Amino acid sequence: MDNCIFCKIAAKQIPSTTVYEDDDLLAFKDINPAAPVHLLVIPKQHIATLSDCNDSHAALLGKMLALAPKLAAEHGIAVQQDADGNRSGGFKTLINSGPNGGQEVYHLHLHVYGGPRPWRGLG
Ligand code: 5GP
Ligand code: ZN
Repeated sequence: MDNCIFCKIAAKQIPSTTVYEDDDLLAFKDINPAAPVHLLVIPKQHIATLSDCNDSHAALLGKMLALAPKLAAEHGIAVQQDADGNRSGGFKTLINSGPNGGQEVYHLHLHVYGGPRPWRGLG
């Protein structure tokens, strides 16, 4: 898609710090991280928003979400559980959709945030 910054990142026309890539997806570091770890997972194909998705996108969306725990493990933000069952660590996944959803870049992306708090504006 012309003039889509994430299409340009997917096409390597704009540099980014890639953390994962396959035929369908790219994951890279957010340029303005709101947490110690802040990654973005995008489909390589241009989809503007989650509102443009339907049942035909279920496998792609599942793949995006399923990548989050793999990235979390690789970046040290997976949920940990000790022998007593107490959990620590962890991460937040987020998709902003449309103006009221706070979306700024109109190419579907899944945020993955983690690391020691506080995080900027994320509750
Ligand atoms: P949104 O508000 O649309 O859900 O989030 C867009 C995200 O994309 C923001 O967190 C912003 O920092 C990030 N972003 C915008 N432009 C670029 C860019 O050129 N490179 C990278 N790596 N991240 C970007
Ligand atoms: Zn795009």
